[in-house]
Amino acid sequence: MESNPNPKVTRADIMMRGALCRCPNCGRRGLLASWFRLNKACVSCGMDLAKSAGFYSGTTSIGYVAAIICVIIPVCLLVVFKVLSVGTGIILGIFGSFGFIVLIYPVMLCWMVMVYHLALPDDLPANAPNDGPRAG
Ligand SMILES: [Zn+2]
Repeated sequence: MESNPNPKVTRADIMMRGALCRCPNCGRRGLLASWFRLNKACVSCGMDLAKSAGFYSGTTSIGYVAAIICVIIPVCLLVVFKVLSVGTGIILGIFGSFGFIVLIYPVMLCWMVMVYHLALPDDLPANAPNDGPRAG
């Protein structure tokens, strides 16, 4: 495993593209097959997205933690300070966290791809030492 001294795609590029939910390899939209699912490969450049599927499956647990921090804790505080009744708080907590996870799910998928390639920028086809597309 040689590190590429002159990568075409830098970590800054990967972060920019990831934040915008774009493919880290080509910078175009093509990661998401649906709201909840990544494509097997980027539709624009064909970069393989399936090989790190195990890594991306961590997305759901991150979603639960994010929902607890961003929804459940604020709702609990509102109940404690009697801004909300307990009943309203419970309903808001359940539907709020569910809605929150649904809302941020595609962003989390894209960001998992981003984090993976931030850790392994040489893994991008665009940064492969030999030029041109690789078969397979
Ligand atoms: Zn791509």
